[in-house]
This record gives sequence, structure tokens and C-alpha cells, in this order.
Amino acid sequence: MSFCDLAVSGVAELQPYVPGKPIEELQRQYGVRDVIKLASNENPLGPSKAALAAIAQASKDITRYPDGNGYGLKMALAEKFQLAPEQITLGNGSNDVLELMARAFASNGDEIIFSEHAFAVYPIAAKAVGAKGVTTPAKDYGHDLDAMLKAITSRTKLIFIANPNNPTGTWLEPALIRHFLEKVPEKVLVVLDEAYIEYLEQVENTVAWLKDFHNLVITRTFSKAYGLAGLRIGYALSHPEVADLMNRIRQPFNANSLAQAAAVAALGDQAYLQQARELNQAGMKQLIAGAEGLGLKYIPSNGNFLTINVHTNAGEVYDDLLYEGVIVRPVANYGLPQHLRVSIGLPEENQRFLDALATVLGRKK
Ligand SMILES: *Cc1c(COP(=O)(O)O)cnc(C)c1O
Repeated sequence: MSFCDLAVSGVAELQPYVPGKPIEELQRQYGVRDVIKLASNENPLGPSKAALAAIAQASKDITRYPDGNGYGLKMALAEKFQLAPEQITLGNGSNDVLELMARAFASNGDEIIFSEHAFAVYPIAAKAVGAKGVTTPAKDYGHDLDAMLKAITSRTKLIFIANPNNPTGTWLEPALIRHFLEKVPEKVLVVLDEAYIEYLEQVENTVAWLKDFHNLVITRTFSKAYGLAGLRIGYALSHPEVADLMNRIRQPFNANSLAQAAAVAALGDQAYLQQARELNQAGMKQLIAGAEGLGLKYIPSNGNFLTINVHTNAGEVYDDLLYEGVIVRPVANYGLPQHLRVSIGLPEENQRFLDALATVLGRKK
């Protein structure tokens, strides 16, 4: 007997999510010192001082359970977005709310649509609830909204759209998404995953669309531009009834107390966010210039990462880079076997990556 035979069929078929390799693991396994990690789209600035101060303060109370309703953070978010707190669902990272959506709305025999090369959590969330993941072909590495519309059937419960998308960095103009929402039947929920939205300046406020489209759910996170990935805190903005349903199935204390306190402080630290944006823009230019200098193509990106075509088996290049002490992300499991995704780091980290890439590719020629 195999326990796989006993598992829920979707779970038995699943491949686990592959995270970026932690720095300590590389040091342990390869004996490499002086490691840099540009593999998980983390914020290279380090945490906001305001967030750190809030954590220090909140840590005095960690013998107590967190506020299970996340009152302070929901009030801060409600104020920022001009929404009712009842429209907000907090999560242990936005990953948590993505999964809550699948669990609340889909089960055996239902269909969940997402794009080729889209975020790996969508197929996992679909399979874990026994739903069928329906992958639509990408267009220029990004989402093909027409193909997604055509894929809708009577069994479709959810559509996941990442904008910008990870790992491609591709961007859909908000007007196109709005047009798409006008055509999606109201009984199909559309989850717009905006994990990287804070990196874009002067972007249309999709949150204002919630009053027009009750089937729209917007997810955001404190892991990327706000620099709090290790704390695990994200949220969904939705119709109150959708939030209520997610609330029924979430773990009672899915957002921990340090994360709630830090998130409130981070929201108030817009100078940090601006600094993160500027660092990202400069780093993006640096990486693009470096890739072009090496004669490599890349997918134009709106995130805090660049996905570069190394024109050879990217898994091997990834391994060779590890020996140089540089951790990036291979994306073969996203259907991109010749690409590497590199997160934008500090200027010196970006340069280390580019130098290591030149060395590794030179060695291969
Ligand atoms: C990083 C990321 C997330 C969420 O990360 P959390 O840390 O769980 O908030 C969600 N969607 C996309 C597309 C991402 O790249």
C-alpha cells in the first residue's frame, strides 16, 4: 500500500512548491561563503525602521494570541483604500488568501483558470481542493485574456490573474482587465493578484472597481515592496460576502501579532516604499544593461525581478551560479527551461550576479 493511494486524488498528483534556496542551505551544502540571494523577490533594502520598532513593541505581548479580527490593520487598510473593514480578509501571506479563495469556492469537478507561466500557487491551490486547473496558453509570456474568457465553462468557479505576473513580470493594462471583467459571468470569481503593484507608480486604482464588479477579489501582500516577507502577512479586498466566506474557513489566528503590528507601521512608512521603488528602478536598469551587454534577451518586467533568457539549459547555469555564491531562480517548472529569474538586489549584488553570469556563460562557450 502507498499512502498516495489514500490521499485526495489532487493532492497525490501535486508537486510541492519549490521555494528559492535559503542562503544557509547553500553555505551548508556547498561550503560556499559570501552568498547572495536574488531568488525570492525579496526587498533588498531590509525592513523599514518603523516596522522594526513596531515589532519590538508588539513582541512584549507575544504570550497573548493575536487579535483574530486584525482590527488595527484592517482599519488602516480600510482607511487607505476607502473600503469597509468587512471587505478585508487578512492572510498568512497573500498565499493564504489565494488558497482560501480556492477552498471557499471550488471543489471536486470544478474548474479554476490560470495562465501558462503564471504563479505556481494557482495550480497547487486548485489541485489541493480537487478542482481541475485549466491552463490557458500565454501570449508574449503574459496572460491572454481572450483565451481565458473562452476557457470559461459552466464548471468554472475561479480565475486567477497575476498583474504583474511572476515569474514573467508581464503587465496587463488595467483597461484590458476591466474590459475582461465586464465579460466574465458574475458567478465566476476573478482573483486579481497584485503582489507587485506597489512597484508601479501612478497606476490605475483597481480597488475602486470592487463596487462595479462584486465577483472581483484583489489580493496584495506586505512581502514584496513593503519588505516583510518573513512575517507572512497579506490580504484580500472583496465584496463583504466573499470576505465573510473566507473568514469562515481561515485559521482563527492566521495573521500573527508581530506581522499585524509591522504591517500597520509599514503602511505608514511611505518614504520606505518610495526608496524601495527607486532602488528597484535603478536595479532594473542595471540588470537590463548587463543582460544586453551579455547579448541576452529578457522578458520586460514590471516587478522587482527580471527573467533572462540564457539560451541554454538554465538549470545548469543556475547550478554553476550556486558555486559562485549567487542564488537565483530557475523557472523550468513554469515552462521556461532556458530562463532564469533574478530578483533585483542592491547595486553591488546585481553586479555580482552579472559578473558571475558572465563567468558561468563564458565557461560554457
Ligand atoms: C510573492 C507572490 C505572492 C505572495 O506572496 P506572500 O508572501 O504569500 O504574500 C503572491 N502572488 C505572486 C504572483 C507572488 O509573486
